[in-house]
Order: sequence, then C-alpha cells, then structure tokens
Amino acid sequence: MKYSIFSLARAALTGHRGWTRAWRDPAPKSRYDVIIIGGGGHGLATAYFLAKEYGIRNVAVLEKGWIGSGNAGRNTTIIRSNYMLPGNVGFYELSMKLWERMEQDLNYNTMVSQRGIINLYHSDAQRDAFARRGNSMRINGIDAELLDAEQIRKELPFLNYANPRFPIMGGLAQRRGGTARHDAVVWGYARAANDLGVDIIQNCEVTGFQRTDGRITGVETTRGSIGAGKVGMAVAGNTSRVASMAGLRLPIESHVLQAFVTEAIKPLIPGVVTFGAGHFYISQSDKGGLVFGGDLDGYNSYAQRGNMPTMEDVCEGGMAVMPMIGRVRLLRQWGGIMDMSMDGTPIIDRTPVDGLYLNAGWCYGGFKATPASGLTFAHLIARDEPHKEASCFRLDRFRRGATIDEKGQGAQPNLH
Ligand SMILES: Cc1cc2nc3c(=O)[nH]c(=O)nc-3n(C[C@H](O)[C@H](O)[C@H](O)COP(=O)(O)OP(=O)(O)OC[C@H]3O[C@@H](n4cnc5c(N)ncnc54)[C@H](O)[C@@H]3O)c2cc1C
Repeated sequence: MKYSIFSLARAALTGHRGWTRAWRDPAPKSRYDVIIIGGGGHGLATAYFLAKEYGIRNVAVLEKGWIGSGNAGRNTTIIRSNYMLPGNVGFYELSMKLWERMEQDLNYNTMVSQRGIINLYHSDAQRDAFARRGNSMRINGIDAELLDAEQIRKELPFLNYANPRFPIMGGLAQRRGGTARHDAVVWGYARAANDLGVDIIQNCEVTGFQRTDGRITGVETTRGSIGAGKVGMAVAGNTSRVASMAGLRLPIESHVLQAFVTEAIKPLIPGVVTFGAGHFYISQSDKGGLVFGGDLDGYNSYAQRGNMPTMEDVCEGGMAVMPMIGRVRLLRQWGGIMDMSMDGTPIIDRTPVDGLYLNAGWCYGGFKATPASGLTFAHLIARDEPHKEASCFRLDRFRRGATIDEKGQGAQPNLH
C-alpha cells in the first residue's frame, strides 16, 4: 500500500478500516539465499538493499525479539557526517545523502530533521582540532562552519558561558546534521523490504550455525533449522556472542550506554549540542522532551540497563553546560549494548568462515550509519567484494596496522 495524502484522506473518509499490515508475519521457509541475523536498523536496511539494488529477494531477517528492540530503538537519534579520516569521510557522507532521500525512497515518514549539530570547544587546542576537522570536511565537499563564542551565544543563549573550567569559546557546526525518528527508520526499512519479498521473522533467535566442509549452510534457531546460501551478522552489541557460535573471536567489546529523556517543555534547543569536554550531549524531541546522554558505563556487559553513578555523572555534565536543566524532571532512562571496536571504527567484511559475513563495531555511532551500512553490507554479500565506500572497514586492519582511529584514543575500546 502506497502512503500518500490521497491514501490518508481515503482512509479518513472510510473510518480507517482499510489500512493493511505494514509487513507480513511469515513462518520461516526451509531455505533462503541470504539470511541476515538481527532485525535492527542495519539488518533490515541490508535486506532492503539486497532486494532493491542487487535483486536478491529470497532473503530472511531473523530477530530474536521484536524488530528495533536493540540499539535501533534505544539510541538518541543523531545523524551527522562530520568525520575527518579517509575511510570514514566517504562512508558517512554517503549515509547522509541516503538520509536526505530516505523518506522518498521508503515512502515512509522517518522524520529526518536536519536541524544541525554543534560541537562546542573550550580551549585553543580544541579549537585548532575542530578547525582542522572542518577544513577537512569542506575539502571533501561536506558542510562545516567554525563558530566563535558570540555566534554560539546568538543561537544557544541558555548555555553557561562562564564555566571557569570549560568556558565556551565556540563550536564546529554541521547544519546538515540533525536527528531522525529511530523506530520509524526500523519500520520504514521493514515495510519496504517486506514489499520486495523479504521475510521478517521475529521471536526467532539464532542459536548456532550449520556448516558443511567448513562453509556455512544455514542456522539453528529457536524456530528450527533454516538453510542459507550466505549468512550476514548484524547483531550490534551481541556480535561477540553470535560470532563465538561460529568459533570466531573478534576485536570487539560490549559496553552499556545510557540515554535519558525529560518531561516535555516548550521548544528550546534548536539542534543537537555536544559538550564533549564534559561528556554530555543533548537535543530536543518533537514532543518536547530533552534527549541526552554521555559516556559508557565503564564495564563490559550484555545487560540492556545502566547504573546510577553514570546517570549522576551525565546529569552533572548537563548541569555544567546548561544549569537550568536541573529544574526539569527526568522522565525515562534506558541502556543499550554497544559493540565497541578497538579503533572506534566499524567492520563490514567477510569472516574467515566461508559464507559468513560481518557487520559490527558501530560503537555509539551506528544509527547515523544505518543506510550506508545497509547498502555497503548488501553489496559485500551480493558481490563478495567490499563496496568502495566501506573498503577500509576490514577485519584484518588490526593485524595490518591500518586502523582508523578517528578519536586518536588508541586500542582502548571504551574510550572511542
Ligand atoms: C543510548 C544509546 C544512544 C545512541 N545514540 C546514537 C546516536 O545518537 N547516533 C548514532 O549514530 N548512534 C547512536 N547509538 C548507536 C546505535 O544505536 C547503534 O550503533 C546501532 O543502532 C547498531 O545497529 P542496529 O540498529 O542494527 O543494532 P540493533 O538494533 O541492536 O540490532 C541488532 C539486533 O540483533 C538482534 N540479535 C542479537 N542476537 C541475536 C540472535 N542470536 N538471533 C537473532 N537476533 C539477534 C537483537 O535483538 C537486535 O534487535 C546509540 C546507542 C545507544 C544504546
């Protein structure tokens, strides 16, 4: 069913009885050409692009819970392409371009809102680093603007400019950055993939791999065995667990990241603001709630919940940069599991196991990558060669010394 102003008007006039299900609820077939494990944004986008761009339609997405129950439905919805290093630049800009036409492509309102993102700086050294990043972005055709304190004050008068430790000296803005509605992205890809023939199978946990002569030939699941020509893993925070079923040990650690939402207030924050020095970032949802987050909880975990000391630490960061946030009540808080790679950069590659493909290592930044991740992972699975914009995200880069360390933190996954 195509969504449009006419279908909406027709439905309104007929008592809203004509709406059809957005996607089917099929029983698993005995075999698929491609199985994607994980019904988050990345898994569903991969299935969509496999069908749309590469003509592979005998595809199933297997999800252990409900689609979007992982990080896809738990993130703070920020999209941006303000990267500097070769390898990242082209990939994230490809993603941004796909965001810009996503609603037309999927015929779905994913509420992509390019309200802009500003990264604040507080020292000469930080300003120089941001200037360098901005220059690199512009050289690569990506929008970037270095703002001074007065320009920031005009846009964000409510910030604390007199913090003695972190005085606001300016910020780096990317106006094309912003937010998108995370659940709608999941639903949009699910609906579009379903329309192209993809089976989306929920409540179906993968519990093992079938192999013949070393090659993957299918998966074991809580709903029985399913054969497959190829299998792609897009399970984010569960990557090390699922990979271990195939005998793989990966350069990934699982860590918890929390997010927070306050009660709704009148429009206040025009875009996304990040206070990296204080480990705090914030935006305002269309409903009015302030959506914010900060650092990882600081220990390895597979539990989708966070701890109180980190909650306190994030709120302190908020109070430092935006003291009046202390007067608003916190409504909700939750945690998600991050697949932190050793250099903070993702992996989209074949694995040493024939027929098994890996999409992982998204750290805290995988939501903005969803469209490009889906397209490039689909390309890899369909063609057995990396997409040109994801050709640096190889698994062997750690052995080759070709890491892509955008933050310059070294092999310290919890700091990326
Ligand atoms: C609090 C928080 C804030 C964040 N903020 C941002 C942000 O602002 N911007 C940004 O770009 N990124 C952000 N991220 C990161 C982003 O959400 C993730 O990198 C991205 O969602 C990961 O890809 P995904 O959507 O496919 O993962 P997921 O949605 O986690 O999908 C993986 C799926 O695999 C399923 N699965 C796992 N094991 C199995 C199995 N054995 N069998 C079947 N299915 C299985 C899971 O149930 C899950 O649904 C944030 C994350 C969190 C938690």
